[in-house]
Amino acid sequence: MKIQHNISLKPYNTFGIDVKATQFVEITSLDDLKTFLNTEKDFFILGGGSNILLTNTIDKPVIHINTKGIAIVKQTNRHVFVKAQAGENWHAFVRWCIAHNFGGVENLSLIPGNVGTTPIQNIGAYGVEVKDTIYEVEALEISTLSTLTFTNEDCAFGYRNSIFKNEAKGKYIITGVTFKLTKEHHQLNSSYGAIQSELDTQHCKNPTIADISKAVIAIRQRKLPNPEEIGNSGSFFKNPVITSTRFEMFIKKYPEAPHYIVSNDAVKIPAGWLVEQCGFKGKRFGDAGVHKNQALVLVNYGDATGEEIVALSEKIQQAVKKKFGIQLETEVNII
Ligand SMILES: Cc1cc2nc3c(=O)[nH]c(=O)nc-3n(C[C@H](O)[C@H](O)[C@H](O)COP(=O)(O)OP(=O)(O)OC[C@H]3O[C@@H](n4cnc5c(N)ncnc54)[C@H](O)[C@@H]3O)c2cc1C
Repeated sequence: MKIQHNISLKPYNTFGIDVKATQFVEITSLDDLKTFLNTEKDFFILGGGSNILLTNTIDKPVIHINTKGIAIVKQTNRHVFVKAQAGENWHAFVRWCIAHNFGGVENLSLIPGNVGTTPIQNIGAYGVEVKDTIYEVEALEISTLSTLTFTNEDCAFGYRNSIFKNEAKGKYIITGVTFKLTKEHHQLNSSYGAIQSELDTQHCKNPTIADISKAVIAIRQRKLPNPEEIGNSGSFFKNPVITSTRFEMFIKKYPEAPHYIVSNDAVKIPAGWLVEQCGFKGKRFGDAGVHKNQALVLVNYGDATGEEIVALSEKIQQAVKKKFGIQLETEVNII
């Protein structure tokens, strides 16, 4: 375990916000974690820093989860069960699965962050959510330091949601995730977004999981700003879900609005479209702004503070509320 004092967190958050941590603890093993938690109960857990917006100095210990390891734990004829430690980089894990021809996570290629964070908001992209492959989640209970296992069902996954954002919030540190992946006859999901047209462009008629991953990477690289070039945390807001009754009134007024039917009584409206309709796409306020190609992504052009990004997000929320009567919720954790 390595402990540093008064360090800048700028390299540790994809928004590139320059705030300090008074104590920064690098965790590379479960034993390290238990030793540290024996004496310390008030801390901030940091994974890959790709879903947070830092607004102030963190004056409690920052625990940086950096545990590594990927192992096959069990196999059946059709499936393989793979456990990854929480500190593994998610995209590196996806690449590992593809290299072994294990299917299920290819649509989630290039999402930043750690494996251990993926269950918290049930990461999703291109028609797939990580809950579709999670078998179980291993976590350390902070109050007792005992290790618990949450089955997929225990995790109560929903859209960008899980038990770890609700009743289990603040009580556990996720230490590992086991995925159930296919070994053959992979169920490819190429119907969502631009995947099929990307495959057509690449003249790919019988795609493999590697082809799907390649297509997703190409689309994401075109659409989303690379945090190494321009600070951001991906989608800043969740896509709002409204009732069918409300949707009927909404679509009468805005017949051109894109939407996805979620269930008999729920319709999802892309938050990016709402933000764009309010005129924010590509707008810049000092070093804080809204990305020119993707209105859902707030960006730091260089030296924006967390407070400036929050102020912009509130301005957007107010404008969307005023125009559409819809309250946008943040997907990013504001710290
Ligand atoms: C360019 C870009 C694109 C993105 N695209 C997508 C996308 O397509 N789909 C999507 O769903 N998300 C997307 N995201 C968001 C982000 O990548 C995910 O939410 C990711 O899972 C966050 O992981 P992290 O390790 O970086 O979390 P962090 O930002 O480090 O932490 C997030 C929260 O989880 C807590 N936490 C971290 N690790 C643990 C742990 N081990 N145990 C308990 N709590 C913990 C932290 O305290 C914090 O509250 C994108 C982000 C960026 C920057």
